[in-house]
Amino acid sequence: MTLAQRMSRLGTESAFEILARAKALEAEGKDIINLGIGAPDFHTPANIVEAGCKALKDGYHFYTPAKGLPEVRAAVAEDVRFFRGVEIDPECVQIVPGGKPTMFFAIMMFGETGTEILYPNPGFPIYESMIEFSGAKAVPIELVEERGFSFDPEEVLAKINERTRLLIVNTPANPTGGVVPKEALDVLVAGLAEHPHVTVLADEIYSRLVYGDAEHVSLLSYPEIRDRLIVLDGWSKTFSMTGWRLGWGLWPEDLIAHAERLQINSNSCAAAAVQIAGAEALRGPQDAVAEMVTAFDKRRLRIVEELNAIPGFSCVMPAGAFYAFPNITGTGLSSRELQDLLLNEAGVATVAGTAFGALGEGYLRFSYASSLENILEALERVRGVLAVH
Ligand code: PLP
Repeated sequence: MTLAQRMSRLGTESAFEILARAKALEAEGKDIINLGIGAPDFHTPANIVEAGCKALKDGYHFYTPAKGLPEVRAAVAEDVRFFRGVEIDPECVQIVPGGKPTMFFAIMMFGETGTEILYPNPGFPIYESMIEFSGAKAVPIELVEERGFSFDPEEVLAKINERTRLLIVNTPANPTGGVVPKEALDVLVAGLAEHPHVTVLADEIYSRLVYGDAEHVSLLSYPEIRDRLIVLDGWSKTFSMTGWRLGWGLWPEDLIAHAERLQINSNSCAAAAVQIAGAEALRGPQDAVAEMVTAFDKRRLRIVEELNAIPGFSCVMPAGAFYAFPNITGTGLSSRELQDLLLNEAGVATVAGTAFGALGEGYLRFSYASSLENILEALERVRGVLAVH
């Protein structure tokens, strides 16, 4: 068997590997607390589940248009108007199975040998993996702890050259919980005027999960880049729907037909009944989202306080998403060593910072999308294991 060369360049998302290892340890009878996977621990709100079941009973069993059902695309446009204060054309919205397809399509659309794509590091691992798979050069945008894991916009602009095709911005961010401040986006967008050949992919999948004084500023609020901005969002995180597989992409007018063609060549469409559930999520009551955000916020404050009390750990306060990303260099262990030690000896699943890029060395990701009780028990175990190590 000879695989295509590109297969050797394909990375992975370690959170899924950790999940498999955690499940295997559980199957051996070990008690594992999983703070590794980025999935909310709440049930999908009942009105959404009911809408999905009803849709199946009502006969939503078939292919939908590749871009998605018109009423679902209209619901996305209403949601964008409400939460981002921007009018968009539902014809430029494509409903896809999860957040990932929009990322996959955008990177495959622009990446090829001889081109460059800028992406956040540490960042969601699929960016780097897909960029390399496409043949493009993956150019990291450094996210540093001292800046609350945001970037220096001037530094980003300085990395752009004539080979740069795509720039990926993720705010609020995985794995750091960082939120890019408006001032940084202002400078970035102003500078992009000099680089009209660069398209922007804004991964805003955590847009509703921001806390305290932090504000999510969408790149959609900059009309000057609207004709070269792709927005990725979805239902997974906001509505606790990771297993339903539903997301949306907003594409510039010139790109939507290309995105549709990629969809036709890969998924055909998102599942019909799931789309109907997605419309209910956007149009129905939002109380469940508010409750989840309140719970995440409470856990966020507590997990950071507890992490900072562990010798060798120091953790900046994340402003969004549901991740804490402590600096663990004081333990004397590498990210990977600590990840494995905690999984094997404390029964606590976390993800090594290096799973999110080379610049994640020295950090460990804790997802606080788990009950406060679990979080406190997990951190107690971490303290215990480190004390004897
Ligand atoms: N983008 C970011 C930044 C993420 O963290 C994730 C999931 O963890 C995704 C996209 C993909 O979302 P989905 O599970 O809906 O494909």
